[in-house]
Amino acid sequence: MKSSRRTFLKITGLSLMGWGAKPVLEVLARNESSKILKPPEALKAKRWAMVINSRRCPHGCTDCIQACHNIHNVPDFGNEKDEIKWIWHERFGDAFPGQEHPYIQAGVKERPVLVLCNHCENPPCVRVCPTQATFKRAEDGIVMMDYHRCIGCRFCIAGCPYGARSMNYRDPRPFIKKINPAFPTRTKGVVEKCNFCVERLAAGLLPACVVACKEKALFFGDLGNPDSDVRKLLRAHFTIRRKPELGTQPQVYYIV
Ligand code: SF4
Ligand code: SF4
Repeated sequence: MKSSRRTFLKITGLSLMGWGAKPVLEVLARNESSKILKPPEALKAKRWAMVINSRRCPHGCTDCIQACHNIHNVPDFGNEKDEIKWIWHERFGDAFPGQEHPYIQAGVKERPVLVLCNHCENPPCVRVCPTQATFKRAEDGIVMMDYHRCIGCRFCIAGCPYGARSMNYRDPRPFIKKINPAFPTRTKGVVEKCNFCVERLAAGLLPACVVACKEKALFFGDLGNPDSDVRKLLRAHFTIRRKPELGTQPQVYYIV
């Protein structure tokens, strides 16, 4: 991408977004981000992580999904083949293959499991991306996407063992119920996924899914801080991660 187009896109984004220039640039401009000071109100961490208490996730509730998808302009194409998803439900056996057995505690395998990008410590999607459109932020571990660098090769989709990435096979804009002008829309041929609400963290806000959950099933915090909620939960409960045998080291943990 030519630098003039990049600059234009950033400026366009800035004029559309309600926040100040610094956090927006931080989200949209990877290479420049290290030169920009974070505003004092930004939430910071050494390593962001999520803990999901799936025991508290009631059947049929999609509040977190709606909140995330509305805020991030996720289109609804109305069919499974083209589906774009940042956060969604899986069957227990699909989320945790090999963990299901005939004698499992009653109710566990029927419970919907909320899944999203794991912001892996060792992310294969980053390794396979030929343009560095997907990258891991060294400062807090968030696996980011620069949509303007994505060439739609889908190597990252093949590389992610969690199905956490979706491809826009069509122009998504006509399929967004109500466009949120504060977040960029994507285009045909671009891959997208959960960004751990990096734009909200920059504005001092917790992820939309965490805020939207009335059951208090989702927790978000700094693994690098022993006093954070996530560290306390990980100390107090037995937790599992998705497909740990792959060595990706997911940063989403489940109380089951
Ligand atoms: S879950 Fe998939 S998309 Fe997310 S960081 Fe891990 S490999 Fe990449
Ligand atoms: S952290 Fe943000 S982007 Fe990720 S699933 Fe939750 S609401 Fe969506």
